[in-house]
Amino acid sequence: MEKEHIFSLEYARSLDDQDQLKAYRQEFYIPTNKIYFDGNSLGLLSKRAEKSVAIVMEAWKQLAIDGWTEGEHPWYYFSEALGEKMAPLVGAESTEVIVTGSTTVNLHQLVASFYKPSKTRTKIVADELNFPSDIYALQSQLQLKRYDHTDHLIYVTSKDGSTLDEADIIEAMTDDVALIVLPSVLYRSGQLLDIQRLTAAAHERDIKIGFDLCHSIGAIPHELHEWGVDFAFWCNYKHLNAGPGSVAGIFVHERHFGQAPGLAGWFSSTKEKQFDMEHHLTPAVDAGAYQIGTPHLLSSAPLLGSLELFQEAGIDQIRNKSLQLTDYLLLLVKQELQAYSFTVDVLPAERRGAHILLNHKEAARICKALKAGNVIPDFRSPNSIRLAPVALYNTFTEVYETVHKLKKIMEEKTYKTFPNERGVVA
Ligand SMILES: *Cc1c(COP(=O)(O)O)cnc(C)c1O
Repeated sequence: MEKEHIFSLEYARSLDDQDQLKAYRQEFYIPTNKIYFDGNSLGLLSKRAEKSVAIVMEAWKQLAIDGWTEGEHPWYYFSEALGEKMAPLVGAESTEVIVTGSTTVNLHQLVASFYKPSKTRTKIVADELNFPSDIYALQSQLQLKRYDHTDHLIYVTSKDGSTLDEADIIEAMTDDVALIVLPSVLYRSGQLLDIQRLTAAAHERDIKIGFDLCHSIGAIPHELHEWGVDFAFWCNYKHLNAGPGSVAGIFVHERHFGQAPGLAGWFSSTKEKQFDMEHHLTPAVDAGAYQIGTPHLLSSAPLLGSLELFQEAGIDQIRNKSLQLTDYLLLLVKQELQAYSFTVDVLPAERRGAHILLNHKEAARICKALKAGNVIPDFRSPNSIRLAPVALYNTFTEVYETVHKLKKIMEEKTYKTFPNERGVVA
């Protein structure tokens, strides 16, 4: 390959020609004339997801109350059926996954279930780079058990302000720790943690460990069962494209089956006993036990169609293309943007999630200029631009165009015409 050639538009187009997943772009509604690189915040609507919402609406229209037990997808078993379809994405047995709740509610449920402080083990380990909602949930769970979170929530610190060192996390696994909650992929830098290594280290020390998969589900393969992870939770509206506020997911390893959930409700029950209406709960003997109340059918329906696409494309293929996209993005950023004071953490493939983070002190207004140029990035206060080229619907040509648009914005300083402050949602 000639050196010049790999920086050409023709090269980007040739990568698109060879792309084995290129047909999937047609399955999505791509905003007209836009380059959408924000699929790690809100994934795009697919035609299949739209269709599966229509199926649930139709069942409601035709069957009314009987939709719970009749029709193609009886609602009473819908969350379990979706869990079974999702299980391959996290490397789980079909009974270990349930679609329920939201990310944050599920974290509350799992901490309420798995945080069992003893006389000597009372602390929870998290990290200082985690998403605020996870931290708030952990703080409030400690408070509910009457522990002061200022000394009971231990934050693993970052040496460089953007990544974590597994050795530092393991060092924080001391005798007084009862539970560890970490992200699989850090929401800013996109660093992928070594889940297997951290799980093994936690278990050697008799500590329970759970992971937030919000930024890895649908982008990266997992082997949660084999790695022995105690629990995990995630949202389905980012890489899984199930729509704003779509119902989320929980994984609980089967060795924990049979325990009562920390937060119970009638949908925690075994299916057979639920309608006996007893005041004594008989919890389901699988991940279903972590449900609380009536499932949100209209917000879980899109997942049905969306998961078909993942099953067809294959998560390993998706991961391969995602890495090619981010490799290519990093290559072009290095080549074209070196004059403009961006800082980028270049993470090797095995430690990289599905997005790239560019830091720049003018990031807020650079994002606005990109948006004005029909590229949708993601701004994270105070100085970060996240770019997520998504394997199922983005192209190499879009990566090329984005970097060149960004170069032009920097060259011509057009970003200076925008105020350097964030919008309400950014
Ligand atoms: C997106 C995201 C959330 C969102 O939580 P919700 O309860 O769905 O609002 C939480 N944690 C992480 C790490 C996320 O990336």
